[in-house]
Amino acid sequence: MSGPSAVRIAVLYPELLGTYGDGGNAAVLRARAQARGLEAEVVEVVGSEALPRCDVYLLGGGEDGPQRHVARLLAQEDRMARAVAAGGSVLAVCAGMQILGSAFRDVDGSVPGLSLLPCRTVEPLPAERRAVGEVVAEADPRLDLPRLVGFENHGGRTALDDGAVPLGRVLRGTGNGVGQDAVDGVVAGRVVGTYLHGPVLALNPALADRLLGWAVGDLPEGDERLVRLDEAAEQARAVRLRMAGLAAA
Ligand code: GLN
Repeated sequence: MSGPSAVRIAVLYPELLGTYGDGGNAAVLRARAQARGLEAEVVEVVGSEALPRCDVYLLGGGEDGPQRHVARLLAQEDRMARAVAAGGSVLAVCAGMQILGSAFRDVDGSVPGLSLLPCRTVEPLPAERRAVGEVVAEADPRLDLPRLVGFENHGGRTALDDGAVPLGRVLRGTGNGVGQDAVDGVVAGRVVGTYLHGPVLALNPALADRLLGWAVGDLPEGDERLVRLDEAAEQARAVRLRMAGLAAA
């Protein structure tokens, strides 16, 4: 059992949105919390059960059919909206981000989203132009994060509403794929959407710490486990940034 101050992390429907290993984001959050002496508990939400009260909710990527199903599940009794209103933060990757916008598309047409992020996913890229590959993005200056790295694999293109804050400006790759200024993702309060798989938090520990900080306030100093996690992330980032011909900045 975890104590009252445990960080509670929910992985939402890994059996439906687990295609790209985004559930690994939970392992990263737990390891970084524990390396700081914080208790952390990962809860997998499956089937049609109600959402437990958690600090961080994780949504991953997946195929169109499961994506539509998860959108329906999370709309029931305003589950996701209530979790956010109760102070939960959310990291939503790819299909997960698309679900949190106002609408997304699949082969059967437009599907209503949950309108928790100021975006909508529009006419997909032609099949031969599916966005697949490494992404590097300069984090939006309002977020004060280092460069973001990850891997994308999507057909949907996501348009931001006027004034919406993107997660970052794309230096390599496609990202949201709409408009002249290429951007990836969108951030609204404590809800973060991105096209970056990876899992994204393993490659971008500063983003992981931002989510943990939203949960617990000031993060305590870490022990040697945190040093090792940071070193591993740094090596993985360096490889990708080098491949992209970019520096860490
Ligand atoms: N089915 C969606 C798309 O192709 C999401 C894919 C994903 O989650 N990687 O746009």
